[in-house]
Amino acid sequence: MVKFALGVLAFQGGFEKHREKLAELNVKTLLVKKQEELNSLDGLVIPGGESSTLLKLLDDDFRIRLVELFEAGLPILTTCAGTIIVANRVNSPVQESLNFINISVERNSYGRQVNSQVISNLKINVAGQKLLKTENQNIEGVFIRAPRITSIGGKVESLLEFDGDPVLVKEGNVLSATFHPELSSGVHPVISLFVEMIQKAKN
Ligand code: GLN
Repeated sequence: MVKFALGVLAFQGGFEKHREKLAELNVKTLLVKKQEELNSLDGLVIPGGESSTLLKLLDDDFRIRLVELFEAGLPILTTCAGTIIVANRVNSPVQESLNFINISVERNSYGRQVNSQVISNLKINVAGQKLLKTENQNIEGVFIRAPRITSIGGKVESLLEFDGDPVLVKEGNVLSATFHPELSSGVHPVISLFVEMIQKAKN
């Protein structure tokens, strides 16, 4: 068993699948629903679901603690709605967000063809080649009513792209995907990268 405390935000959405995937890597997770459960975590996953609902469920105390932990460098993985929650700007419709990563996103923006679709050959950018440990050049992305990242700024690196848009981005301790790595079979390189980020942060 890998020895660190990994939390998965469990108010709503696809938290169980994240837990199952991390278990495949021998990582034990804690399902986080209360502010005090955020204490002593080594990393946090903010899963997909419905971002507007998720926002309503985050009360002020929880948000304040989350912001403190983000600022202290806690490694955070977000997928789909989780990425909407942490973006700097959210459109379609405009929605408040936590400003953890310098990206703009448009909700449900891919139209019908990738409303829900498995893309088997995401483009790996130079930053992705460096960070994602994968022999396989065909990295998969499961997209479900996915947001589109319409711009990235500052120190954000784009690791993977689909159709010219970034779909996996990283800025410091925050790793954000518009797709669902936890739904691919096997252990997706995004999940492995996140576990590596946690291990590095602990050393
Ligand atoms: N469409 C959802 C939203 O806007 C995200 C979908 C997902 O997380 N799979 O919040």
